[in-house]
Amino acid sequence: MDMEKTGKFIAKCRKDAGLTQAVLAEKLGITDRAVSKWETGRSLPDASIMLELCGILGISVNELLTGEKIAMENYKEIAEKNLTEIMNVEKEKNTKLAKAEAFIGWSGVVVSLFTIVCGILTAAENSAVSIALCYFGGIVMLVDAVYATVLEHDSGYYECQNCKHRYIPSTKAVIFAVHSGSDRILRCPECSKKVWHKKVLNR
Ligand SMILES: [Zn+2]
Repeated sequence: MDMEKTGKFIAKCRKDAGLTQAVLAEKLGITDRAVSKWETGRSLPDASIMLELCGILGISVNELLTGEKIAMENYKEIAEKNLTEIMNVEKEKNTKLAKAEAFIGWSGVVVSLFTIVCGILTAAENSAVSIALCYFGGIVMLVDAVYATVLEHDSGYYECQNCKHRYIPSTKAVIFAVHSGSDRILRCPECSKKVWHKKVLNR
């Protein structure tokens, strides 16, 4: 995927449609800085507004991602290539998040356990310091657990083990769900059963 080519193509289609960056941004409910970032190839439009953007510019998502008009006969082949690339970009992002989650999760556990052990060891000498250390260790552990869970939630999807539906549940549902590793018991919006969900990186 050539973001610079896509950017130039967006700029060209926008001008052909007689729109300024500001007017296009207003139609999409975003800042003109975001439009400028796309057009200079520094970012891609979010998947959530891609369809709307393409509608305004009179092009297909496939053409947007390729950065040029596509002849009908090549359409399917190019569409598949674009989809694969977008999924790879997303998967890479999710893998990075999953690694960050593991690192933060474990370092938090180490720090909090160390603090609690120090707290216990100082109990005989100074009980006020000991209690403070234990409390602090406990808080670090709690914050770390919530933070790691939020990161887990943000990296990829959850797959219902009953109907195999893949989706992103609410952060709250994930935080309060019973879990084993990154597998969680959630209520599936598709089959509405409360079952184990497996963490998956791709939709
Ligand atoms: Zn289900």
